[in-house]
Order: sequence, then structure tokens, then C-alpha cells
Amino acid sequence: MLLTACTLAQGMEIPTTLPTSRPTLPPSTLVSTTARDVHSIATASPAPTATMSSFDCSDLRKDKTTDYNVTAEMQYARHYLKVAETITYTNITDKSLSTIVLNVKPNWQAGIFKLSTAELANGESLKTSLVKQRLEIELPQPLDPSCTLNLNLNFDLHIPPIDTAGLHAYQGYLGYSARQTNLGQWLPVVAAHDGVSWISHEEFPIGEQDALDRANWDIHFHIIDATESIQIASPGTVEHVNNAEWHFSLPQMRDFSLSIGTNYRLQQQKTNSGINVELYSFDDAIIPNQSSGLDSGAYALNTVVKSVNLYETLYGAYPLKRLVIVEGDFPDGMEFSGIVFVGGEYFRGLNGVESYLTIISVHEVAHQWWYGKVGSDQAIYPWLDEALATYSELVFIEKYYPTLADWWWNFRVNRLAPQGYVDSTVYEFTTRRAYINAVYLRGVKMLAELRTELGDDVFFGWLNRYASENSDRLVTPQYFWSLLTSEQYTRTESIRQTYLRQPQVIASTPSTCTSETPCTP
Ligand SMILES: [Zn+2]
Repeated sequence: MLLTACTLAQGMEIPTTLPTSRPTLPPSTLVSTTARDVHSIATASPAPTATMSSFDCSDLRKDKTTDYNVTAEMQYARHYLKVAETITYTNITDKSLSTIVLNVKPNWQAGIFKLSTAELANGESLKTSLVKQRLEIELPQPLDPSCTLNLNLNFDLHIPPIDTAGLHAYQGYLGYSARQTNLGQWLPVVAAHDGVSWISHEEFPIGEQDALDRANWDIHFHIIDATESIQIASPGTVEHVNNAEWHFSLPQMRDFSLSIGTNYRLQQQKTNSGINVELYSFDDAIIPNQSSGLDSGAYALNTVVKSVNLYETLYGAYPLKRLVIVEGDFPDGMEFSGIVFVGGEYFRGLNGVESYLTIISVHEVAHQWWYGKVGSDQAIYPWLDEALATYSELVFIEKYYPTLADWWWNFRVNRLAPQGYVDSTVYEFTTRRAYINAVYLRGVKMLAELRTELGDDVFFGWLNRYASENSDRLVTPQYFWSLLTSEQYTRTESIRQTYLRQPQVIASTPSTCTSETPCTP
């Protein structure tokens, strides 16, 4: 049985520590029905103060997005990287910060990430504390609102082998196989700040736990032992400086992830709007049959192009010029900014449109809107991106294969008789099956009922406005529902009552959730 973290095509029991107690629910704030028309989410506005004194307060940055400037030197055969990361971070909260919290996703297990130094730009050494994925850095003086801090981190990464058949197989987006090394979310990033505290969630074997702000990425990548067969699949602007050096840049995206492989087969096709879709697969994506091989790479590429055409029409423009799809040597689909992985087993298992390859590919592409464009807290509100990505599978099927809509409902949803609250956090589940049933599958049932109640025009207009949300802040369910008019909000009340534990939208988000305190919304 194979799993998927993002798309969870199939399920399996996972031994986890059951949360023994539920925390007290935060007070719910009813969204005033008189204020149901479009209103912005509460933001902590970065008010410049007269007492700016800390660090760089002299030259206030117009673009307050965090910059990551990275130099990485990789020994490919050893799966080892030495990384220097410079972080330029502007305090966009309205209070002085005495510590900075970074989320270090690679530190989900010991032995992968090793911090050598953390320093200010002037070389002053900083006190750090790394506990699981939370790296807390003590500042020698407070960082005032709107002021900017320059940090240098030096660290090593020992990429683990992909745990092909084990519980952690789905984390193969940061792992290597004989022919591929994947660097999904390999860099420490400054945690998002919700105006009250840093958002840093404990790693958990169900779902994803990231809440990622947009950032600017500039990466110099050097493979010391590069051979001619090595190729890098990466998003953004790519400059192949020479055989062993690459320069990548990816502005205003939530992560910079890449895949390095040998003997990738690259296929490309343009969408209606001119986006270049690039698909990296291996020879095993060609399925032998009686006469000639069936090229599942070509099928996936065509499927992805059609899905981008459709989603751009419905949800708005895809924000980059390229979209990269990689056949992953792990049993999963996983989305990153401008690049997605689709598990090799789906390529090898292609058997007509009614295959996982179809629905997983378009699901991951849909995350370019529901994750990439609109960012949310994936641990606390996983339905915000997953229910919409899963529903987008149906939208694709209805458009291109309308006679298969019933197949999709039965295959993907109804045969599993899903139960559970759509607005559960990832920490509330002990099996991935139960998680996907509640969050993804009951999520699509909720969206289907909303569409029936509101009608296609209103429903898709709503999703389009939601996708066009362009603030740098992470959005919440409150924002999602706030895009309905008061009449539409009232009309859909019974649907929320059916599917949500908390049908009245809450205003605040718990920031730090663990398996012990799962932060039930
Ligand atoms: Zn997903």
C-alpha cells in the first residue's frame, strides 16, 4: 500500500501518539453579517516608529519580503551539501522582536541538518536553540518594527535515502534514490508571524505542517562532482553557468525546491497563455505494450497543460513563466512553488484517463493556486488548500471528460464513505485515511453543495476572488468566507453546520500546535 502526503490516494494505519486531551477552544468570533461584503483580513500594519534604533533602520525597504541569498556546494555522489544562507528579514509586525524563529524543515529527523554558524552580517555570533524544526535565534538587541536584519547561516545537509517502503516514504521530496536527489524545502526559513507570535508547528506524520510567507530566492548552486548526465529540474529563472554551476532566481514564492537527476527525459509544451510546462520523467514512464510503448510522460504533460489552461480561466493567471513537473521516486504527489512531484508509480500505472496519474497531476497543479498563490496554514487549516485542490480534480474532469464525473465521485469520494469534520487540524488524526476522508473528501462534498446552492457563476467568481488575494499575509477561513456577500453567507449556513466543527468563523489562529496540543480550531 502506498501513501501520499499531499493527495493521499490511498490510506494506511500509522502508529502515532494520540493526543490525550483537547485544548480549550479559542473564543469564537462571529463574523458580523452586516460586514459580510469583501473586507480585508486583520493585519498587523507595520507602523514605522520614531524610535528606530536597532540594526538597519536607516534605509527602509519598500519590498518587505524576506530575501534568501544562498550559495550551495553539493557533493552529488555523497548526497551532501554545504550551504551558506544570507537572510534579509524586515520586521513587519508592530512590535519589537527579541528573537527570530526559523522553521528548519530538514531537521524533521536527526542527522540531516547540522548548523555550523549563525551570525549577524558584521560577523557577530548569535545564540541559537534548535529543537526539532524550530530554530530560535536570540538577537543582541531588539529588532524594531520596519527595521531590517541581515543574518548569515552556515549549515550542512546530509540528504537521507528515500525510505521507499516505510512510513516516511512520502517525505521523499527531501531524499535521494539511485537516479534522483530531491531538495524540497531544504532551506531554513523565517517563520510567518501572525502579529502575536511566530507560526512554527511540530512535524507530524500526517499532512503538511507548513505556513509559508512569500519570499525572494536567489540561489547559486555548485555540484562539485557534476557529470554530463546530471540535470536539474527547478522553477524560476535558471542560468546554467557552466557544467557544474547553476544560478536560480525565484521572486515572491513560498519555497525554492528542486530535483537533481541523471537521465531525466525532458518534455515540454506551452499552455494557451504561453507558460512553458516542463515534464521530467524517466524511461520507465514509457509503458511497454503490444505494438509500441505508451508514453505516460507525454500523457501527463498534456494533462497538465490542459489543467493550467482551465485553472487560469477559472482562478486567474498562473504567476510564473514555467511550471515544472517531476516524476518522483517516492509514492506521493507533492506541491512546491513552480515545481511539483508526481509519484513514479502513477506514471507506470497509467491505464486510461481513469488513472491516478490524471487526478494526482491536476491536483498538484491546482496547488499552484491553492498554496502557491493563496497561502494558508497547512497544519491548522489543511482544508483550505487540500479541499480546493481535490475539488479542482473534479473541475478538470467535468471540463475535459464530462462522462467520467460519476467515475470520479465514486472512485475518489463515495466508495470511501468519508466521515469527519472538514475543518480539522492535521494533529487530530491517527491515520492518513481518516485525515483525507475528513479534510479532502468531506471538503469536496462541502464545496459541491456550496456550488449547487450558489450557482456556478457565483461559486467560481468566489474562488477567483479568493485566488486573487494578493497580500503577503497567510489567509484564514475567515477570509475565505468573508468573500461571500451577507446574503450568500446566510444562505450557506446549513452547509457549514453540516461539515464544519466550527461553523462560525473564528478570528484567531493558535500559533504553535503539537501532537500534545493539537489546537482544535
Ligand atoms: Zn494536495
